[in-house]
Amino acid sequence: MEKRKCSEFSKKYFFKNMPLIIVAAVSFIVGFIRWWNQQTDMFFYISIIVFIISTASGLIFNKIYMTNFRCPVCKKQIPKPVIEYGTENAPINYYCDKCDIEWETGMSQGTAC
Ligand SMILES: [Zn+2]
Repeated sequence: MEKRKCSEFSKKYFFKNMPLIIVAAVSFIVGFIRWWNQQTDMFFYISIIVFIISTASGLIFNKIYMTNFRCPVCKKQIPKPVIEYGTENAPINYYCDKCDIEWETGMSQGTAC
């Protein structure tokens, strides 16, 4: 078995996830400032709702994205990463049985899930 790096996967993940992270962060800050100033008005509730929605869709996106890895060589879809349980920050790698290559995404459990 061969091991190869596939940095595309984590790059795409990062850029697709970025808008959601920004929306979640901004709404959190807005909500926090409102709460700090004891202005629990409409904006406060909107920011909380936006925060919850963006966080939830981020988690859903994460789940879907993690089951959609495609082997860069043969384009075979690999629905499950190889995870070494028991180790902290275990790397998320995908093994393609067709090419006998284990793809290292550079991502780990701590950063993704
Ligand atoms: Zn393959």
